[in-house]
Amino acid sequence: MKIHRVPTDEQRKRFFRQIAKLWPVAKGSVAEVRKPCTRPGCKACAEGRKHPAFILGYKEAGKRRCLYVPADRVAALRKAIANGRRIEQLLSEYGAEMVKQARKQR
Ligand SMILES: [Zn+2]
Repeated sequence: MKIHRVPTDEQRKRFFRQIAKLWPVAKGSVAEVRKPCTRPGCKACAEGRKHPAFILGYKEAGKRRCLYVPADRVAALRKAIANGRRIEQLLSEYGAEMVKQARKQR
């Protein structure tokens, strides 16, 4: 009987090499919103323009959550979300590879 060595050690090394470059990581979405401030007589708020802000929408134990994101962190956060998507894509690829390999070994 054949011993199944799936996934192989080589695949494991390849996977860790790939994810090492994908840091930082995040999952969710960034949206631009407008929020009012508390300053009395604020012109932007009086005119309804309010103030631009960014929020990160994400899930925690199945519940939708959101957090304000400092404007200077938005670009880095978007990059982290793209990295997270790439990792998820890799997981799908490795899963398919694992099954295809198991079939070949039969
Ligand atoms: Zn304001």
